[in-house]
Amino acid sequence: MPVDLSHDPRVTELAERTARFVREVVVPEEERHDGVAAAGGEALRTRLQAAAKQAGLFAPHVSPEYGGHGLDMRDRTTVFEEAGWSLFGPLALNIAAPDEGNMHLLEAVASAAQKERYLRPLAQGEVRSCFAMTEPAPGAGSDPAALTTRATRVTGGWRIDGRKWFITGADGAGFTICMARTSGEPGDRGGATMFLVDAANPGTKVVRHISTLDESLYGGHCEVVFDDCVVPDEAVLGEVDKGYEYAQVRLGPARMTHCMRWLGIARRAQQIALTRAASRELFGSRLADLGMAQGMIADSEIDIAAARALTLQACWELDQGRSGAQSTAIAKAFTAEAVWRVVDRALQICGSLGVSGDVPLNRFLREVRPFRIYDGPTETHRWAIARRAIRRNEQSHGNDQARGDEQARGNEQARGAEQAHGNAQTHGDQQVRGDQQAHGDQQAHGDQQIRRDQQAHGDPR
Ligand SMILES: Cc1cc2nc3c(=O)[nH]c(=O)nc-3n(C[C@H](O)[C@H](O)[C@H](O)COP(=O)(O)OP(=O)(O)OC[C@H]3O[C@@H](n4cnc5c(N)ncnc54)[C@H](O)[C@@H]3O)c2cc1C
Repeated sequence: MPVDLSHDPRVTELAERTARFVREVVVPEEERHDGVAAAGGEALRTRLQAAAKQAGLFAPHVSPEYGGHGLDMRDRTTVFEEAGWSLFGPLALNIAAPDEGNMHLLEAVASAAQKERYLRPLAQGEVRSCFAMTEPAPGAGSDPAALTTRATRVTGGWRIDGRKWFITGADGAGFTICMARTSGEPGDRGGATMFLVDAANPGTKVVRHISTLDESLYGGHCEVVFDDCVVPDEAVLGEVDKGYEYAQVRLGPARMTHCMRWLGIARRAQQIALTRAASRELFGSRLADLGMAQGMIADSEIDIAAARALTLQACWELDQGRSGAQSTAIAKAFTAEAVWRVVDRALQICGSLGVSGDVPLNRFLREVRPFRIYDGPTETHRWAIARRAIRRNEQSHGNDQARGDEQARGNEQARGAEQAHGNAQTHGDQQVRGDQQAHGDQQAHGDQQIRRDQQAHGDPR
């Protein structure tokens, strides 16, 4: 099947307008607040989002029914990358984590009533939200099956009890999408359910802000307790016990939108390095003319181009309705490391200036580092990527063997038939049947395996 990676002119125009808006309106705000969104408070969020609405750039990923532009995953790549040029760009356009991923999930899974109550105000920027999956050890983290938060049946609803941490944006969120175990025991691969929990529910409480390396995401990373938190049946998102399946609806796309946004920061870091390298004179020449600096510049160009291509290809697969398990894992693992390398090289090229607060590189470095941990740590992805590759190889050997055996049997049979009836048709029929069977087996086995893999490496942002 041919792969078309070009964007519609309408999308290209939207990306260009986003780029202008971010440079003219958002970057000055980012500089004023040293990249820390919380420093500007609710007033900053409201101001930036009002400006984005005015510019016709708001919530580009949400369907027009809820006030957005309805961009598919592929078209999001270019617009989100331009928004990501500033740490505050995604907040301005209402495409920051975790709200963006939550909107995607709600559009896909929520009932009509839940969409009106939760998705519409979220898409309008009237409320914020958070996604609560990760728990302190020994609970859910890289392995979501370790989920310990439990929801127990009560009359007319459920009671949730458990402790979550690293819940981005929890402080001030209007509601939480909480993953809780409704059947089975920690370690079991199924039995989770997603619940929509209002902030006003007396059973949920933000108990602390966790001090972290990164500070740009609005609402911080919080520890949240669910204690005797009673919710009605209508709070169940989708169906009971299907939480892990819905997490996949959110996870693949959310990983890719993180890649897009951080690519914007990588490009900005590279531009800072290029500008510095062109103006800094040392050892009788421009830094830009020295080979080792050129090597770093070239490596960063390669990292950016490769990360963009991998992300785009994975998004194309998601748009085709494919699972994208392998391609999103590859794109995420590569991009998280590539973005880090690009920012680190830019800082190196700038020397002490890079370490200083006179350019935002030290801030960028702190912001991009956790991306190697959330959305599935790099090691979890590498583990899953390798296992799929090993299985694919084993399957193709098995199938080659099966095809060979079938063919040999077919040849023998056909020879016999030809001898008996002078009929050569048999050979072809046998071969087609053998091929169909091998292909069918491979597909069925592959699908099962993908479903199992998708359940591994959690990370919900
Ligand atoms: C900035 C930030 C924001 C976050 N926001 C949210 C949020 O909004 N909501 C939410 O629910 N969670 C959030 N998280 C949590 C995030 O999802 C988890 O940190 C992540 O899933 C990893 O879980 P863990 O921290 O418990 O690490 P652990 O599961 O304890 O893993 C520790 C380390 O083990 C290694 N490892 C993992 N798998 C393998 C493997 N197969 N082989 C070898 N080594 C391996 C990796 O190096 C990993 O870093 C956030 C985390 C961060 C850092």
